[in-house]
Amino acid sequence: MHYYEYDSDPTYIEHISSSNDSWGDWENDILPSLKPLNVSCISGFPRLIGWAECTSSPNHFLIPSRTSLKRPRTIEVSIASGCYTSIGCKLSGNKYHKPTFNSLFKKIRKLGFKTLNALEKWPPSEEEIEAHKDKDSDPTPNWAVRMKYNTNCTFLDPKYRQLIYYVTTNTIIDGLRLHKSNPNLGLCPFCNIPASSKHMFIECPKSKEVWDIIDQLGNSHWGDYTALNYDFIPIMLKEYDPIKLYQISALWAIWTTWCSFFHRSLGQ
Ligand SMILES: [Zn+2]
Repeated sequence: MHYYEYDSDPTYIEHISSSNDSWGDWENDILPSLKPLNVSCISGFPRLIGWAECTSSPNHFLIPSRTSLKRPRTIEVSIASGCYTSIGCKLSGNKYHKPTFNSLFKKIRKLGFKTLNALEKWPPSEEEIEAHKDKDSDPTPNWAVRMKYNTNCTFLDPKYRQLIYYVTTNTIIDGLRLHKSNPNLGLCPFCNIPASSKHMFIECPKSKEVWDIIDQLGNSHWGDYTALNYDFIPIMLKEYDPIKLYQISALWAIWTTWCSFFHRSLGQ
Protein backbone atom coordinates (compact mmCIF):
# COMPACT_ATOMS: atom_id res chain seq x y z
CA MET A 1 0.00 0.00 0.00
CA HIS A 2 1.22 3.49 -0.83
CA TYR A 3 0.34 6.70 0.93
CA TYR A 4 0.60 10.14 -0.68
CA GLU A 5 -0.14 13.58 0.57
CA TYR A 6 0.08 17.12 -0.73
CA ASP A 7 3.00 19.17 0.43
CA SER A 8 2.72 22.93 1.04
CA ASP A 9 2.93 23.25 -2.75
CA PRO A 10 -0.40 21.71 -3.87
CA THR A 11 1.00 20.75 -7.22
CA TYR A 12 3.54 18.44 -5.62
CA ILE A 13 2.61 14.99 -4.25
CA GLU A 14 4.97 13.62 -1.67
CA HIS A 15 5.43 9.86 -1.41
CA ILE A 16 5.42 9.27 2.34
CA SER A 17 5.10 5.51 2.79
CA SER A 18 5.34 2.28 0.88
CA SER A 19 4.68 -1.24 2.20
CA ASN A 20 4.99 -3.20 -1.02
CA ASP A 21 5.98 -2.73 -4.60
CA SER A 22 2.90 -4.26 -6.24
CA TRP A 23 2.05 -0.94 -7.85
CA GLY A 24 5.25 -1.16 -9.85
CA ASP A 25 6.63 1.97 -11.42
CA TRP A 26 3.70 4.16 -10.27
CA GLU A 27 5.46 7.43 -10.87
CA ASN A 28 5.71 6.71 -14.58
CA ASP A 29 2.79 4.30 -15.14
CA ILE A 30 -0.01 5.73 -12.95
CA LEU A 31 0.76 9.32 -12.04
CA PRO A 32 0.81 10.74 -15.60
CA SER A 33 -2.68 9.25 -16.17
CA LEU A 34 -4.27 10.92 -13.12
CA LYS A 35 -6.39 13.99 -13.77
CA PRO A 36 -7.08 16.84 -11.32
CA LEU A 37 -10.62 17.21 -9.94
CA ASN A 38 -12.73 20.33 -9.55
CA VAL A 39 -14.00 20.65 -5.96
CA SER A 40 -16.30 23.33 -4.52
CA CYS A 41 -16.17 24.31 -0.83
CA ILE A 42 -18.91 26.98 -0.90
CA SER A 43 -21.24 24.97 1.35
CA GLY A 44 -18.53 24.30 3.91
CA PHE A 45 -18.19 20.70 2.77
CA PRO A 46 -15.98 19.66 -0.15
CA ARG A 47 -18.22 18.81 -3.09
CA LEU A 48 -16.96 17.11 -6.20
CA ILE A 49 -18.00 19.02 -9.32
CA GLY A 50 -16.13 17.23 -12.04
CA TRP A 51 -12.80 17.30 -13.78
CA ALA A 52 -10.75 20.46 -13.24
CA GLU A 53 -10.47 21.03 -16.96
CA CYS A 54 -14.25 21.26 -17.52
CA THR A 55 -15.79 24.66 -18.20
CA SER A 56 -17.26 26.46 -15.19
CA SER A 57 -21.06 26.61 -15.07
CA PRO A 58 -23.47 28.52 -12.77
CA ASN A 59 -24.04 25.28 -10.83
CA HIS A 60 -20.46 25.42 -9.62
CA PHE A 61 -21.33 28.48 -7.53
CA LEU A 62 -24.56 27.21 -5.97
CA ILE A 63 -24.79 25.76 -2.49
CA PRO A 64 -26.29 22.28 -2.75
CA SER A 65 -29.62 21.62 -1.03
CA ARG A 66 -29.09 20.85 2.65
CA THR A 67 -31.80 18.22 2.79
CA SER A 68 -29.20 15.49 2.43
CA LEU A 69 -27.36 16.89 5.45
CA LYS A 70 -30.45 16.81 7.67
CA ARG A 71 -30.05 14.12 10.25
CA PRO A 72 -32.96 11.66 10.32
CA ARG A 73 -35.05 11.86 13.48
CA THR A 74 -34.70 8.87 15.70
CA ILE A 75 -37.73 6.92 16.87
CA GLU A 76 -36.84 7.90 20.47
CA VAL A 77 -36.93 11.62 19.60
CA SER A 78 -40.32 11.22 17.92
CA ILE A 79 -41.80 9.48 20.94
CA ALA A 80 -40.21 11.98 23.35
CA SER A 81 -41.59 14.94 21.38
CA GLY A 82 -45.04 13.30 21.38
CA CYS A 83 -44.90 13.12 25.18
CA TYR A 84 -43.28 16.52 25.73
CA THR A 85 -46.53 18.52 26.05
CA SER A 86 -47.96 16.00 28.48
CA ILE A 87 -44.86 16.11 30.64
CA GLY A 88 -44.94 19.93 30.57
CA CYS A 89 -48.59 19.90 31.71
CA LYS A 90 -47.76 17.54 34.54
CA LEU A 91 -44.82 19.66 35.73
CA SER A 92 -46.79 22.89 35.58
CA GLY A 93 -49.69 21.33 37.51
CA ASN A 94 -52.11 21.60 34.59
CA LYS A 95 -54.39 18.80 33.53
CA TYR A 96 -52.39 15.82 32.34
CA HIS A 97 -53.11 14.53 28.87
CA LYS A 98 -51.68 11.16 28.04
CA PRO A 99 -50.48 11.13 24.42
CA THR A 100 -52.69 8.84 22.41
CA PHE A 101 -51.13 5.89 20.74
CA ASN A 102 -52.50 7.01 17.38
CA SER A 103 -50.67 10.33 17.38
CA LEU A 104 -47.40 8.58 18.18
CA PHE A 105 -48.05 5.85 15.67
CA LYS A 106 -48.68 8.39 12.89
CA LYS A 107 -45.44 10.21 13.63
CA ILE A 108 -43.46 7.01 13.66
CA ARG A 109 -45.08 5.81 10.44
CA LYS A 110 -44.25 9.16 8.81
CA LEU A 111 -40.59 8.48 9.50
CA GLY A 112 -40.82 5.43 7.31
CA PHE A 113 -40.41 2.79 9.99
CA LYS A 114 -41.82 -0.53 8.90
CA THR A 115 -43.99 -2.59 11.18
CA LEU A 116 -42.41 -5.69 12.67
CA ASN A 117 -42.30 -8.60 10.24
CA ALA A 118 -44.10 -10.74 12.82
CA LEU A 119 -47.17 -8.50 12.52
CA GLU A 120 -47.61 -9.47 8.89
CA LYS A 121 -48.52 -13.08 9.74
CA TRP A 122 -51.74 -12.17 11.61
CA PRO A 123 -54.96 -12.16 9.59
CA PRO A 124 -57.47 -9.29 9.62
CA SER A 125 -60.48 -9.78 11.88
CA GLU A 126 -64.07 -9.82 10.62
CA GLU A 127 -64.48 -6.20 11.74
CA GLU A 128 -61.35 -5.13 9.89
CA ILE A 129 -62.52 -6.90 6.73
CA GLU A 130 -65.91 -5.18 7.08
CA ALA A 131 -64.33 -1.74 7.58
CA HIS A 132 -62.22 -2.30 4.48
CA LYS A 133 -64.87 -3.63 2.13
CA ASP A 134 -65.18 -0.50 -0.06
CA LYS A 135 -61.46 -0.32 -0.79
CA ASP A 136 -59.56 -1.91 -3.66
CA SER A 137 -56.70 -3.37 -1.64
CA ASP A 138 -56.77 -6.46 0.57
CA PRO A 139 -57.81 -5.88 4.18
CA THR A 140 -54.98 -5.88 6.72
CA PRO A 141 -54.99 -5.70 10.52
CA ASN A 142 -55.31 -2.16 11.84
CA TRP A 143 -52.31 -2.19 14.16
CA ALA A 144 -52.80 1.36 15.41
CA VAL A 145 -56.16 0.30 16.84
CA ARG A 146 -55.04 -3.14 17.99
CA MET A 147 -51.99 -1.85 19.84
CA LYS A 148 -54.08 0.89 21.38
CA TYR A 149 -56.39 -1.74 22.89
CA ASN A 150 -53.45 -3.77 24.11
CA THR A 151 -51.53 -0.87 25.65
CA ASN A 152 -54.51 1.07 27.06
CA CYS A 153 -56.32 -1.97 28.43
CA THR A 154 -57.35 -1.16 31.98
CA PHE A 155 -59.12 -4.32 33.06
CA LEU A 156 -56.12 -6.65 33.09
CA ASP A 157 -52.83 -6.83 34.99
CA PRO A 158 -49.80 -5.67 32.97
CA LYS A 159 -48.21 -9.14 32.95
CA TYR A 160 -51.10 -10.54 30.87
CA ARG A 161 -51.01 -7.59 28.48
CA GLN A 162 -47.27 -8.08 28.15
CA LEU A 163 -47.78 -11.74 27.27
CA ILE A 164 -50.32 -10.81 24.56
CA TYR A 165 -47.88 -8.22 23.23
CA TYR A 166 -44.99 -10.73 23.20
CA VAL A 167 -47.06 -13.30 21.30
CA THR A 168 -48.38 -10.67 18.87
CA THR A 169 -44.96 -9.28 18.02
CA ASN A 170 -43.21 -12.66 18.16
CA THR A 171 -40.78 -11.31 20.74
CA ILE A 172 -41.43 -14.01 23.32
CA ILE A 173 -38.49 -16.09 24.52
CA ASP A 174 -39.93 -19.39 23.41
CA GLY A 175 -38.27 -22.79 23.09
CA LEU A 176 -37.25 -22.02 19.52
CA ARG A 177 -35.23 -19.00 20.65
CA LEU A 178 -33.69 -20.84 23.59
CA HIS A 179 -32.78 -23.67 21.25
CA LYS A 180 -30.94 -21.33 18.90
CA SER A 181 -28.67 -20.17 21.72
CA ASN A 182 -28.17 -23.69 23.12
CA PRO A 183 -29.17 -26.88 21.22
CA ASN A 184 -29.88 -28.64 24.52
CA LEU A 185 -32.55 -26.13 25.49
CA GLY A 186 -36.05 -25.30 24.34
CA LEU A 187 -37.05 -28.82 23.24
CA CYS A 188 -40.61 -29.98 23.77
CA PRO A 189 -40.37 -32.99 26.14
CA PHE A 190 -43.32 -34.67 24.36
CA CYS A 191 -42.45 -34.03 20.70
CA ASN A 192 -38.67 -33.56 20.97
CA ILE A 193 -38.70 -30.56 18.63
CA PRO A 194 -37.76 -26.93 19.39
CA ALA A 195 -40.96 -25.51 20.88
CA SER A 196 -42.12 -22.44 18.96
CA SER A 197 -44.64 -20.11 20.61
CA LYS A 198 -47.44 -21.66 18.61
CA HIS A 199 -46.29 -25.15 19.56
CA MET A 200 -46.14 -24.21 23.22
CA PHE A 201 -49.51 -22.52 23.35
CA ILE A 202 -51.66 -24.49 20.98
CA GLU A 203 -50.07 -27.08 18.69
CA CYS A 204 -48.33 -29.46 21.06
CA PRO A 205 -50.60 -32.51 21.72
CA LYS A 206 -50.09 -31.93 25.43
CA SER A 207 -51.24 -28.32 25.14
CA LYS A 208 -54.22 -29.53 23.11
CA GLU A 209 -55.17 -31.86 25.99
CA VAL A 210 -55.05 -28.91 28.35
CA TRP A 211 -57.20 -26.82 26.00
CA ASP A 212 -59.75 -29.65 25.79
CA ILE A 213 -60.22 -29.41 29.55
CA ILE A 214 -60.29 -25.58 29.45
CA ASP A 215 -62.90 -25.65 26.68
CA GLN A 216 -65.04 -28.22 28.51
CA LEU A 217 -65.05 -26.02 31.63
CA GLY A 218 -65.77 -22.95 29.47
CA ASN A 219 -68.63 -24.66 27.69
CA SER A 220 -70.20 -25.77 30.95
CA HIS A 221 -70.08 -22.21 32.29
CA TRP A 222 -70.98 -20.07 29.26
CA GLY A 223 -73.65 -21.00 26.76
CA ASP A 224 -71.96 -18.92 24.04
CA TYR A 225 -68.41 -20.16 24.71
CA THR A 226 -66.14 -20.43 21.65
CA ALA A 227 -62.68 -21.97 21.68
CA LEU A 228 -59.60 -19.75 21.44
CA ASN A 229 -58.52 -18.90 17.90
CA TYR A 230 -54.74 -18.43 18.04
CA ASP A 231 -54.89 -16.08 15.04
CA PHE A 232 -56.89 -13.57 17.03
CA ILE A 233 -54.71 -13.38 20.15
CA PRO A 234 -53.74 -9.78 19.16
CA ILE A 235 -57.37 -8.65 19.55
CA MET A 236 -58.19 -10.51 22.77
CA LEU A 237 -58.07 -7.25 24.75
CA LYS A 238 -60.32 -5.36 22.36
CA GLU A 239 -63.10 -5.25 24.92
CA TYR A 240 -63.94 -6.60 28.34
CA ASP A 241 -64.97 -10.17 27.66
CA PRO A 242 -65.02 -12.75 30.51
CA ILE A 243 -64.49 -15.64 28.08
CA LYS A 244 -61.38 -13.99 26.65
CA LEU A 245 -60.09 -13.23 30.15
CA TYR A 246 -60.60 -16.86 31.10
CA GLN A 247 -58.60 -17.92 28.02
CA ILE A 248 -55.87 -15.37 28.73
CA SER A 249 -55.50 -16.80 32.23
CA ALA A 250 -55.14 -20.24 30.59
CA LEU A 251 -52.49 -18.87 28.20
CA TRP A 252 -50.64 -17.43 31.18
CA ALA A 253 -50.79 -20.74 33.07
CA ILE A 254 -49.48 -22.65 30.02
CA TRP A 255 -46.72 -20.04 29.53
CA THR A 256 -45.50 -20.20 33.13
CA THR A 257 -45.55 -24.02 33.04
CA TRP A 258 -43.33 -24.05 29.95
CA CYS A 259 -41.05 -21.42 31.52
CA SER A 260 -40.56 -23.41 34.70
CA PHE A 261 -39.87 -26.50 32.59
CA PHE A 262 -37.25 -24.69 30.45
CA HIS A 263 -35.63 -23.09 33.46
CA ARG A 264 -35.57 -26.31 35.44
CA SER A 265 -33.74 -27.94 32.54
CA LEU A 266 -31.30 -25.02 32.71
CA GLY A 267 -30.56 -26.12 36.28
CA GLN A 268 -31.56 -22.74 37.71
ZN1 LIG B 1 -44.87 -30.75 21.87
